[in-house]
Amino acid sequence: MSKLTNKVALVTGGSRGIGAAIAKRLAADGASVAITYTKGVDAAASVVKEIESAGGKAIAIQSDVVDVDAVKAAVEKTVETFGQLDVLVNNAGIAIVKRFEETTLEEIDRVIDINIRGTFIMTQAALKYMKDGGRIIMIGSCVGERMMTPKLVSYSATKGAIKMFTQGLSREVASRSITVNNVQPGPIETDLNPATGDWAVSQKNNTALNRYGSVDDVAALVAFVAGPEASYITGANLTVDGGTNA
Ligand code: NDP
Repeated sequence: MSKLTNKVALVTGGSRGIGAAIAKRLAADGASVAITYTKGVDAAASVVKEIESAGGKAIAIQSDVVDVDAVKAAVEKTVETFGQLDVLVNNAGIAIVKRFEETTLEEIDRVIDINIRGTFIMTQAALKYMKDGGRIIMIGSCVGERMMTPKLVSYSATKGAIKMFTQGLSREVASRSITVNNVQPGPIETDLNPATGDWAVSQKNNTALNRYGSVDDVAALVAFVAGPEASYITGANLTVDGGTNA
């Protein structure tokens, strides 16, 4: 038996980047996995196909985390398809890479809506169905705790909010043995954060290891937190950042 056999996981923003790697890793560890996405129908379908080809079970659901009805429907579809919900990974997120004074109100609203409000409403919807002993895992950021990356002021504030959401919620749901943890990546090569260009140079220089990390580095930590050996870890901010915050 694999570590997550008979478990069901829902990963928001699982069609690309870190979310796709998390979905594949949780499936490889035995979980049935639902992923959400907004636009990337083909990308989401290819993640599902890859999981199924490896012998796993997966579904893709179009669901924008800003749309409360779509969020509830995604949770319901997951439970309807796989019978239960054990693990929620709040991964969907965007960044606004701009000096704060140049950021528009529309951009500020969008980053708050997706990174904070989306995480709140998805977590509320999932808690309604989550089994005792479940796992809620946020994908925060190392900049939610310590800030050295230029042009990420509003984004880092949203990730700081996710850190405190994690800590507060961990106390409320502990009576159901549900753990709540915040995985905080450093620079990870994805569409959101390509490892090339000036912005990448400063991020790489901030790491102790002098390199970007991979999506699989983050997925490995998420899989551990989702697994049975992590049952005494809750309310924790777990950084996987190559030493950026060291
Ligand atoms: P990507 O931009 O590469 O992928 C984002 C994923 O989220 C896609 O699957 C996208 O699907 C989905 N998504 C975007 N908006 C929404 C939405 N409104 N509702 C549902 N799904 C959505 O990002 P990363 O993989 O780099 O980032 C994933 C998470 O990790 C984010 O929370 C980010 O803040 C965090 N992070 C990333 C770091 C990095 O260096 N890459 C560092 C620290 C944290 P679609 O294409 O269909 O919209």
